[in-house]
Amino acid sequence: MSNPTIAIDRDVRVRYAPSPTGLLHVGGARTTLFNWLFARGEAKRLGFDGAMILRIEDTDRNRLVEGATQGILDILSWFGIDWDEGPDVGGPYAPYVQSERLPLYQQGAQELIDKGLAYRCFCSPQRLQQLREEQRQKGLPPGYDRHCRSIAKEEIEAKLAAGEGYVVRFAMPRDGTTEVYDLIRGESTFQNANLEDLVLLKSDGYPTYHLANVIDDHDMQITHIMRGEEWIPTAPVHVRLYHAFGWEPPAIAHMPLILAPGGGKLSKRHGSTAMEEFKAQGYLPEALMNYLALLGWSLDGTTEIFSREELLANWSLERVSPSPATFDYDKLRWFNQQYINHILTLDDLTARVVPFLIDAGLATDGALDPSNAEFARVRDVTAVLKDRLVLLSDAPDLMSFFLVDELPPYDAAKLIPKKSDATQALTALQGAFAVFEAGAVDDEAAIEASLRELAEKLGLKAGQLFMPIRVAVTGRTESPGLFETLRVIGDDWVRARVRAAIELLSTDG
Ligand code: GLU
Repeated sequence: MSNPTIAIDRDVRVRYAPSPTGLLHVGGARTTLFNWLFARGEAKRLGFDGAMILRIEDTDRNRLVEGATQGILDILSWFGIDWDEGPDVGGPYAPYVQSERLPLYQQGAQELIDKGLAYRCFCSPQRLQQLREEQRQKGLPPGYDRHCRSIAKEEIEAKLAAGEGYVVRFAMPRDGTTEVYDLIRGESTFQNANLEDLVLLKSDGYPTYHLANVIDDHDMQITHIMRGEEWIPTAPVHVRLYHAFGWEPPAIAHMPLILAPGGGKLSKRHGSTAMEEFKAQGYLPEALMNYLALLGWSLDGTTEIFSREELLANWSLERVSPSPATFDYDKLRWFNQQYINHILTLDDLTARVVPFLIDAGLATDGALDPSNAEFARVRDVTAVLKDRLVLLSDAPDLMSFFLVDELPPYDAAKLIPKKSDATQALTALQGAFAVFEAGAVDDEAAIEASLRELAEKLGLKAGQLFMPIRVAVTGRTESPGLFETLRVIGDDWVRARVRAAIELLSTDG
């Protein structure tokens, strides 16, 4: 077996091979990202080609979810990953969907049977169930007892003639060891006696993951397998399978686990786990890419912000750690906020906010066009609010009072500041109304001066005047700075809302 201590010494072909069983888990996205960075970043930096292949592993027919394949392709594109070969773009090793490659696996299984390295197993589900039960009772590890490995040729012929169903199992060597060299973890030695004769071909003629994966990785000339840690236990079987076919296995690297905050497997219970959910909540793909890149990799242990280009320029397999990484939701929010607040341009951020406003009925499709006035309006609002925005999905609630003609009803009591009363609030708003009639709100400095002068004239503290105005124009007690808020709301709405507040206070009293 080769000992690929040099990760890249030739053109690289890597693959991401999802099973279309549902939404794309963040762990899967992290694995894809590392494959992509290896091919597109590290390999190219070293002067090699790096091809990214997407293959759909849909041989477990019971777990298929309708539409999942398209969903995975869509969310990966959104995430910022591209690929050279795959079910949607084709390529020299098409088809890239395993259910369309069944004859290849059936031939492979037959080849191993002919070589005496695989065998037909006629054991019924009942027998296997009974076996598991006995093993459990005796405290033995579960596993197939190789019953059919030694049945006579004539018996096999008879069973086949009688039309009995069977699976094809791999005949693992019974003794000795198998070494697996992992580019991240180094060499591990497995005792063959502990490895089961795994099923390669099921009774429905579909291959198992193990057979299809090995045949395809060989057939598609994959040079490096980079996948989740859950596949470490079966890696020696795969290595043996390669040898059974007479093939050299690709180099292998198993990515570190992603644990939940506080340990254990990251699951629904802790929060969102699917990329689609993060997208819907308004996480930016850049922030997710940056954050996921750091789950198991670091450049120097301190640098945190990496653009896509910086990741391509810096990421290396050598710096991927074998230790588990912990998924920290707060940290991910922090990354999102950094991108919203400091990294995206205002136009770019506005374009990302718009769809969330459209969904909430706060903008029309017209706002999608950056040359439209509606886009410009959303941009003004975004500029004022972006430092309060953590997720794009916060935008409708944060921004609504800037975008709806009429405020939703609010309690008149909100207009009255603490240590003040209705009469004082009413006087304040009437005075303010006169100020807004006299001068335009787009001159923030002038409005501020007039309002401060008014407060003095009325013998009010600034807050006693500003709070009723804030509530009148926004319907809430918290908002961005009052003067910029007034400017962005604009003269017409400011006057109408202050007038409505005056009426509300008058009728309420
Ligand atoms: N279909 C497998 C999965 O979804 C692929 C594992 C591999 O990359 O070999 O986990």
